[in-house]
Amino acid sequence: MTTTTGSCSCGNVQYEFTTDPLNKIVSGSATANVVVPKDRFHITSGYPKQYSRAHVSGAKVTVHFCSDCSCVLHKELDGDAYRGTLVIPADTLTAWSRPFNAQPRLGMWVN
Ligand SMILES: [Zn+2]
Repeated sequence: MTTTTGSCSCGNVQYEFTTDPLNKIVSGSATANVVVPKDRFHITSGYPKQYSRAHVSGAKVTVHFCSDCSCVLHKELDGDAYRGTLVIPADTLTAWSRPFNAQPRLGMWVN
């Protein structure tokens, strides 16, 4: 098992997750994300806020963010492809725990 840590831009909200291995990266022209099992993710400091909205695909998206710096920490989607997982922006990962050696395994286009 590998523990990966991260935080929002101001550092008030911090998290960690454990995976074996850190195995999925979702990226596109605008973002790179890590998909991790929800039950292995924990907020270790701070209290993120959240809001939900309907995605054009019909899925409900819940966005968790820092109320101080507005940095998005993770998203939950209720669609079948993401059930039981969290989507974490890769730029929130702590520098020393970034999965530099991870290889993309999933390509996805969401309209
Ligand atoms: Zn913050």
